[in-house]
Amino acid sequence: MKVELIAVTRYLRGNGTPEELIEHAGRACYRSEPRGKPGDFIRKRVAEGHESIIEHASATFDISGVSRACTHQLVRHRIASYSQESQRYVDMSSPEYVIPPTIAADPEALAGMERFMSSVAAQYKQLRERGIPKEDARFVLPNATATRIVVTMNFRSWRHFIKVRALDPHSQWEIRELANRILDELYKVAPNVFQDLIDERERQKQT
Ligand SMILES: Cc1cc2nc3c(=O)[nH]c(=O)nc-3n(C[C@H](O)[C@H](O)[C@H](O)COP(=O)(O)OP(=O)(O)OC[C@H]3O[C@@H](n4cnc5c(N)ncnc54)[C@H](O)[C@@H]3O)c2cc1C
Repeated sequence: MKVELIAVTRYLRGNGTPEELIEHAGRACYRSEPRGKPGDFIRKRVAEGHESIIEHASATFDISGVSRACTHQLVRHRIASYSQESQRYVDMSSPEYVIPPTIAADPEALAGMERFMSSVAAQYKQLRERGIPKEDARFVLPNATATRIVVTMNFRSWRHFIKVRALDPHSQWEIRELANRILDELYKVAPNVFQDLIDERERQKQT
């Protein structure tokens, strides 16, 4: 899995950080001026649920090497924008695929999956050789097929995604790993917006 933060909102004043924009928006609500330690204002607003102010900043990730099973869950999150590699236009004769850790840990299961994926590739090629268009040949591709997707969400939506997909123990392993990697990246660019989620993750690790 590759998770790259490729864009984040830039504020056109100050140092250009997304948190400065969020603070600007928040202070517009109260006609207040910056005071106290930097970051306090944002952490307090987030803690009290005044989350509309964090909608002004957004971040875009280029995600690859994840399964279609994973992105199917990801795209259920509607407050977002997506651009995904197309199986209608991209040739999938040698599909890369994701192996779940439970299968990787069981040699017989792994051998079975590898045999199956070779047969999928062979079947796909046969269909293409018979003149079947890519958009129809793709019907033999399984959930394990690796894909690439570019995703943009605003910070409020990313927080919701992370709560549901990284911090909820019911979340499935692959999207949980993705959500955790996204949290790590977002924390680097907006620590005060995502601090409480990092703290919650630490708390969960210790219990
Ligand atoms: C552990 C787990 C298991 C799941 N299992 C299944 C399953 O078996 N089958 C299945 O189909 N899905 C399943 N889902 C997907 C889940 O039902 C949601 O579709 C998905 O998590 C997206 O969440 P969301 O709607 O909150 O996010 P978003 O679409 O990003 O929406 C964010 C928030 O905006 C609000 N919102 C957005 N759209 C509306 C709307 N139309 N009406 C009212 N409020 C809205 C809601 O408050 C929502 O939480 C599962 C999710 C998880 C985490």
